[in-house]
Amino acid sequence: MRNSIDRNNLTAHNIPKRLAVLGSTGSIGRNTLEVAAYSENRYKVVLLSAHKNLALLEEQINRFHPETVVVTGNTEPRWNRTDVRVLYGSDSLCQALEQTDWDILLSAIVGSAGLQSTICALELGKTVALANKESLVVGGSIVTKIAERTGGRIIPVDSEHSAVWQSMMSGERHEVERLILTASGGPFRCFSKEQLKNVTVEQALAHPTWNMGQKITIDSATLMNKALEIIEARWLFDIPAAKINVMLHPQSVVHSMVEFVDGAVLAQLSPPDMRLPIQWALDYPNRFPSPARKIHWEEMLRLEFFPPDAERFPAISLGLEVARIGGTAGAILNAANETAVEAFLNHQLPFHQITTVCQSILEQHNYEHTPTPEQLWAADRWGREETKKWISR
Ligand code: NAD
Ligand code: MG
Repeated sequence: MRNSIDRNNLTAHNIPKRLAVLGSTGSIGRNTLEVAAYSENRYKVVLLSAHKNLALLEEQINRFHPETVVVTGNTEPRWNRTDVRVLYGSDSLCQALEQTDWDILLSAIVGSAGLQSTICALELGKTVALANKESLVVGGSIVTKIAERTGGRIIPVDSEHSAVWQSMMSGERHEVERLILTASGGPFRCFSKEQLKNVTVEQALAHPTWNMGQKITIDSATLMNKALEIIEARWLFDIPAAKINVMLHPQSVVHSMVEFVDGAVLAQLSPPDMRLPIQWALDYPNRFPSPARKIHWEEMLRLEFFPPDAERFPAISLGLEVARIGGTAGAILNAANETAVEAFLNHQLPFHQITTVCQSILEQHNYEHTPTPEQLWAADRWGREETKKWISR
């Protein structure tokens, strides 16, 4: 019975989608489970994973009764639960995806640690709602080929790409003149180069419009998040870097835009609340009432757009360059950035040097145009090691 229907549109048959959430204890993971709880019966949560926050994972097990959970971080003692199958270690993520019956995966692990499970899910020819942008930044060339070969689908969760996806529905891809990705500009949008040298961890973690995990919050402050999103868009929409623009938009209401060849610009607007793009990805192509905040149309709504200052925020140019050259460059940029962000959070690297070290490591790297998965992982390791050396010098 389950195999004889269109598994991508179970909603049309009133059958709950079997939902897997990897990284369920993070910001996106928690928002996803809120969407699932609000929808009451459109989804059945069957698989969860968490790295270290076992207390929250236990709460999620008691609330959603998944069949399987994976604990990826090192934890002792191990659980003794009989109501759920518990697997341990990052290597078990693929095993869990292969052995659990699920329809859609919300890929919400942070960093390149999310790539392998995204690949495994697509190898199964299934649908991935992708929050883990690093999967495309690092492995774009491989991930998109696997999806093509197996019929697996990637639906973006990132709010900008969700907005582009929705706006693209008004035309054909060859009619697109450019994508305009919006960026809040983060907490330092108006800081001078001098001020950027003295930024503290606490200041960088205080994002003006979005409430997110630590790593992406720092990426938003350096604008490296937008660099990663340029690369993500390049792979997701198969659009050249030359057609991708960025505009700063401090209100975070216009989530991105598509300009068509006739000059028409289409956009998607809503308050900054990830529950909307998450629900859109899970229910695509259907829409339902959502728990996300709505725009108050009875109040004045001011929307501003500024071109980014390339000198104060060089990350944007790095993102465009990496999107243009492809190959192993994304893996190197991502590895350098993940390592640099961790060092900044540990007070070992000043804020303004996060982008400097990324640029320097990219310049040193021996570029491979069509890497194998092994070459990508090797590039990831090399990028991390070289970045650590650079920082310790
Ligand atoms: P987070 O730090 O809040 O959560 C990360 C999750 O991944 C947690 O469940 C954690 O247990 C798990 N995890 C951490 N390290 C891991 C490892 N080594 N192996 C396996 N699991 C691990 O992060 P987040 O803000 O929810 O972001 C998740 C992903 O979604 C990132 O790729 C981010 O760029 C993307 N994203 C986030 C937002 C947002 O609003 N938070 C918006 C767009 C895209
Ligand atoms: Mg985004």
